[in-house]
Amino acid sequence: MKTALVTGAARGIGLATTRLFLEEGWRVVMVDRDAPALAEAASTVKAQPICADVSIPEDVARIVAEAGLEGGLHALVNNAGVADFGPIEATGFDRWRTVMETNLDGVFLMTQALIPALRAAKGAIVNIASISGLRASTLRVAYGTSKAAVIQLTRQQAVELGEYGVRANCVCPGPVRTKLAMAVHTQDIIDAYHDAIPLNRYGSEREIAEAIGFLCSDRASYITGQVLAVDGGFEATGVGLP
Ligand code: NAD
Repeated sequence: MKTALVTGAARGIGLATTRLFLEEGWRVVMVDRDAPALAEAASTVKAQPICADVSIPEDVARIVAEAGLEGGLHALVNNAGVADFGPIEATGFDRWRTVMETNLDGVFLMTQALIPALRAAKGAIVNIASISGLRASTLRVAYGTSKAAVIQLTRQQAVELGEYGVRANCVCPGPVRTKLAMAVHTQDIIDAYHDAIPLNRYGSEREIAEAIGFLCSDRASYITGQVLAVDGGFEATGVGLP
């Protein structure tokens, strides 16, 4: 049986990804730092929950120890993320660091710690960035910069780990109505996205999970180092982020 480890799995895109892997017969380890949300999510699916913060090295070491990866890790989905909206002058250093710790440091730490398990299974990494990592905007200095760095980190992973048969790709979701997005998307932003996106709507968690599942599967065995926007065509328009 193949094993997937999904971070930020207590809700949103991570929980939808967990469900998709389970439907396809994988064993899944769900990692999240929100203990009540993780317990609630784990009560609805047959997966192994580990409550941990991906930005804390000691927690990452505990994840590796508890995840039961003796048979190797076939898929690592670095999905845990936090959002923050603000321009440079209004973004205090604390807010900048908070975003970088989870969105960038977390991806680095988790990948570094899990390379032996990924090598053992010739596994696949999928990092979740964002269309905010592809376009600059006046509102997203910390979030957008963290996601642009995740895109580059993905390319680094693909180049470094290819010789071990480990693939690494990046998914850039467009807007999805999760807790993370709806905390920062005002009605003006929602309306502007509907107008700008060729499919004229937000995506669903499941639509993002489908792309993640494909990139982790053997059907994507020759795809590595790629950045896939799953955004209803937004990136193709060349229009700026609302
Ligand atoms: P969400 O808030 O519903 O879920 C994120 C989960 O990550 C939460 O359960 C949270 O507890 C967990 N988490 C956050 N920091 C963590 C940490 N340091 N350690 C462990 N767990 C942590 O959000 P979502 O929308 O499902 O976001 C998932 C990913 O998709 C994020 O990386 C986000 O940036 C990205 N994304 C989302 C959208 C969108 O519109 N929703 C668009 C583009 C990219």
